[in-house]
Amino acid sequence: MSNHDSSASELPFDETPLPEWADEIAKWPWVLIHKNPPIIAWGKEGTCPHCGHHMSIIESNRPIVHGLEVSRFYEARRNDGIPEIVYVWCNCDVAHPPEAAGEGCGQHARIPFSSALPNL
Ligand SMILES: [Zn+2]
Ligand SMILES: [Zn+2]
Repeated sequence: MSNHDSSASELPFDETPLPEWADEIAKWPWVLIHKNPPIIAWGKEGTCPHCGHHMSIIESNRPIVHGLEVSRFYEARRNDGIPEIVYVWCNCDVAHPPEAAGEGCGQHARIPFSSALPNL
């Protein structure tokens, strides 16, 4: 538990894209987290380079994994269903003021996916 005034001291929610944020997220390795054909999913997680909170990403060759809708923003897919580019955003669970703004700190980007995957 922390006794500082959490919400007021956090960065404001801001969707202005930071190119260096996208570059950093793109560098995190994708880890195979679900391999049960026909569904294969990869994830990555780490400390958001903007707000410093934990964030995670799940992407799949299918839009639904474990009942959760993921990868809603596919723009182009390979023949095997794996998207070439995915839309990612900070999903930290810390409230960035104003609290009603949305999930995470607002950072988001399109990053390469299929070309960045490890071999199965
Ligand atoms: Zn955050
Ligand atoms: Zn963040």
